[in-house]
Amino acid sequence: MSVQPLTIKGAFIWDGEKGAARRDLYTSDVVLGKPAGGALTVDLGGFTILPGLINAHDHLELNHYPRSKFRERYDNAHQWGEDINARLDAEPYRSLRAYPLWDRLFIGGLKNLLCGATTVVHHNPPHKELWRGDFPVRVLREYGWAHSLHFNTDEEIVRSYRATPKSWPWFIHLAEGTDGAAAGEYRRLKALGCVGPNTVIVHGVGLTEEDTADAAPIVRGLVWCPTTNIYLLGRTAAIQPWGAKVMIGSDSRLTAEGDWLDELRGGVYSRQLDEPDHFLALLTRPAAALGLTDAGHLRCGARADWWIRGDFWIRDNILLIVKGGVPQIGTPDMMAKFPHIQTVDAALDGVPKRIHVDLARRIHQCALKEPGLEVDTLPRKRFWMGRKA
Ligand SMILES: [Zn+2]
Repeated sequence: MSVQPLTIKGAFIWDGEKGAARRDLYTSDVVLGKPAGGALTVDLGGFTILPGLINAHDHLELNHYPRSKFRERYDNAHQWGEDINARLDAEPYRSLRAYPLWDRLFIGGLKNLLCGATTVVHHNPPHKELWRGDFPVRVLREYGWAHSLHFNTDEEIVRSYRATPKSWPWFIHLAEGTDGAAAGEYRRLKALGCVGPNTVIVHGVGLTEEDTADAAPIVRGLVWCPTTNIYLLGRTAAIQPWGAKVMIGSDSRLTAEGDWLDELRGGVYSRQLDEPDHFLALLTRPAAALGLTDAGHLRCGARADWWIRGDFWIRDNILLIVKGGVPQIGTPDMMAKFPHIQTVDAALDGVPKRIHVDLARRIHQCALKEPGLEVDTLPRKRFWMGRKA
């Protein structure tokens, strides 16, 4: 089904480092250079439109688990990994692992969509379900990855790095700890020949100053996951030396507070983020590091993924989220500006919303429930007519 073209008038369009400027936005599923025939004109005068967020780190099939740790503080996330692996056959993990893969992935995608993170980096095997047309968000397709120096052999890591095209980012959890093992990991990775222009370091909490100074000019970037780091390790990475190479990753709910916006607030609490300008730079920066030319901005050719935030950087406060030119969820007032979309009443963390009927249907079909999201029953006639065989 083709996407209804839109002409958005009167809004300030955020254009990266240059800030926001008032201009019309023309879209189909992508941003167009001029209005399309048959476009619906929508007045969003006074609102600021941001490009969809890019979440640089998640494990999409792990977001239906409770946040878990088994001691107050770990010296190294490897210890946490051993702890959780030893409990996978105990409850609640045993039951939660038994849900179908699609349902588990869907909740991860939905978590991201609901905070405006329409593009996500998945750190785990590239399950084909992630690229289904009805998956809630866009998932980076061209990537390589290894888990970590602890849970992979050296041979596996080298094989993965060499098998990843040099133009694709290659991700690894590195120095996720405060102990000597974490401090030595960068040198171990470098000795394996796996530090290069496509290497992306996830966490980097325990990197030494010397190693950071060596790594920052060479590698593609550092993914910063402050709420996971504080929860497990009591400390997070020092981001200043990384300059423009810092990207925010939410990690999964198994260790994180929640979504991308929670990480942004976690970053503020860690006293390493201050001004809103600093926040805004983090919205779009990952696009280049991830090799995406059509995300992180709303110029001609970008995907029409955008959102309008409210007064606070928190998901229930978001006014509207649009993916691929189609409004997905928003306040009742905002969604009413798009009369071509059939919507269903919903509440997100107790705040009234309206949600696209197709998304509502997928949420109802999912065996798992997104915490904090209530969606009304579907309009019956449309449900049966629209249901795919
Ligand atoms: Zn991770």
